[in-house]
Amino acid sequence: MLKERYGPDIRAVTLPSANAGCAVVEPVELSAVTIRVGAQGERRKVELQPPATLACEMAGAVGAWIETSVQPLARGHYGQDLTLLRVGGGHECRRRNRRAEGKLSEHATGRALDLFAVVIGLGATRVSAELARPAGHEPFLTALRQSACGAFMTALGPGSDAAHADHLHIDIQQRRASSRFCQ
Ligand SMILES: [Zn+2]
Repeated sequence: MLKERYGPDIRAVTLPSANAGCAVVEPVELSAVTIRVGAQGERRKVELQPPATLACEMAGAVGAWIETSVQPLARGHYGQDLTLLRVGGGHECRRRNRRAEGKLSEHATGRALDLFAVVIGLGATRVSAELARPAGHEPFLTALRQSACGAFMTALGPGSDAAHADHLHIDIQQRRASSRFCQ
């Protein structure tokens, strides 16, 4: 299903049996998503570097966000197509903000992803918009964060706290009050 939608670079993986709380539902590894661009329905591959292991549900949310928000924003701001996302920390069995105590991170269940940079275009016109070095890319990065806030339950980036100074954390954590958490 996910593969049919977003292409051949998504593969089901088997993870070693996890500690309680760190089980991933239907884990998949994404090394790229193939998205539709333009009105003619051309398809284009957007790489994830390094490949991320995510719960299937999160992988679908990430694919949809890339296709319906990040690619149109790349076109709108830079007039070029999206080529690559620099990511980190898909599935990782750990607590929030890598503390020794406290709640498990959404990364533990593969329902979170950290984004460090968005690469747009190829060759001489290639642009890399980095969350840690926003200079010159503020309008795009602001729009990116706003779109992430709409697409996910949590979107935390630089300025929210020290743990998110250099990346945008997105996750699909269920919240009791169905409120989103975006900073
Ligand atoms: Zn994170």
